[in-house]
Amino acid sequence: MSLLLGCIADDFTGATDLAGNLVRAGMRTVQLIGVPAPGDPVPDADAVVVALKSRTAPVAEAVADSLASARWLRAAGAPQLYFKVCSTFDSTPAGNIGPVALALADLVGAAIVPVTPAFPEAGRTVFQGHLFVGSQLLSDSPMRQHPLTPMTDANLVRVLQAQLPAGVRVDLVDHRTVAAGAPAIAAGLDALAGAEGAGCRFAVVDTVDDDALRRLAAAAQGLPLVVAGSGLAIGIPALHGLAPGAAASALPPAAGAAAIVSGSCSAATQAQVARFLAGGGAALAVDPLRIAAGDDVAAQALDWATPRLGDAPLLVYATAAPEAVQRVQAQLGAAEAGALVEATLARIAAGLVQRGVGRLVVAGGETSGACVQALGITRLRIGPQIAPGVPWCHAASALRSQGLHLALKSGNFGRQDFFRDAFGALVQ
Ligand code: ADP
Repeated sequence: MSLLLGCIADDFTGATDLAGNLVRAGMRTVQLIGVPAPGDPVPDADAVVVALKSRTAPVAEAVADSLASARWLRAAGAPQLYFKVCSTFDSTPAGNIGPVALALADLVGAAIVPVTPAFPEAGRTVFQGHLFVGSQLLSDSPMRQHPLTPMTDANLVRVLQAQLPAGVRVDLVDHRTVAAGAPAIAAGLDALAGAEGAGCRFAVVDTVDDDALRRLAAAAQGLPLVVAGSGLAIGIPALHGLAPGAAASALPPAAGAAAIVSGSCSAATQAQVARFLAGGGAALAVDPLRIAAGDDVAAQALDWATPRLGDAPLLVYATAAPEAVQRVQAQLGAAEAGALVEATLARIAAGLVQRGVGRLVVAGGETSGACVQALGITRLRIGPQIAPGVPWCHAASALRSQGLHLALKSGNFGRQDFFRDAFGALVQ
């Protein structure tokens, strides 16, 4: 069966978030890491999500990677492309949402492209073209101080317009039209695409709740491109006759020893590590200063772990409190400390898998990226959700012939008992 949906996400955790929503709504979904090569086999799935790192990349690189991914997805048979952006529309006046969206629209010949980052379940809603985070306008939310993509204007029509060349217009399909139903939205989009719209290529669509997203998904069904956060995904599988159920999230049975590698210092991860230690689990702390001093910390950690591998998860962690992290950063520099710890934890993750770990949880966004690379993983089948935004996945790896089960948890996700819950949720 060929693909029903081809998605391009502008960052890794955004891709996982979207893939998780598609699976929950009934689509079997595979996530590809980086631009697929022309000859790469098409996975047996309803949806493919290509995870790029294009959110803050130079514009030309973001456009080139997105176009290459789009060509591959279309060659794989995807009738509709979904450009997944952040639910807070993270971007700058230079891009990258506008330039990438326009290049994709040109590629697929889209006359009009609906745009909405709304994800009401996570408090992101769009009303009169303005994006709200909870009850705050985006421009009043902490996003106004983001180090890379400060969002100081909540008016998405204006924000997107500023990223597009003169002559490419952005307009609005407002909440009254959306409330009137999918045919009214489709008519509104058609009107903007026609002469009346005078050069309008993109329509921000008001989406204040899940029903609005479902109506928009239905109205956009025949369109070749949508630009959205992960929220719109909830309305798409039903349009293909797919319903939520265990089949979409089925993974091969899990096997092998259980382990956790944690390089996240976020508050949620600190609490999860503390809970694991309090429960008496086998755990080893990695000291960044010893790595910097030249000790082979990875080899020592693997020597410690080998006799302890089994059904009960063991934990190797660099997770530390802010004061400890600051002390390390003052000595080594923040970037250097981060890179040293990531490289060491990635070697440990690879060594653990070579020694029989088949169920691995990695805590930390950057840490996950480093571990996935060290494990030689390029595609993940998305399985059941452990916590919002964190599914179990199954991946082939050159280091383990039968593949392995992997959960990649970005820092602030998951409750205190996440590590226990994660392994409890996996069918063996
Ligand atoms: P999160 O998702 O919580 O932001 P990341 O893995 O993305 O986690 O980022 C955490 C960063 O902190 C990584 O670069 C990691 O290597 C680094 N790090 C982890 N532990 C320490 C430590 N004890 N001292 C300094 N840096 C650390």
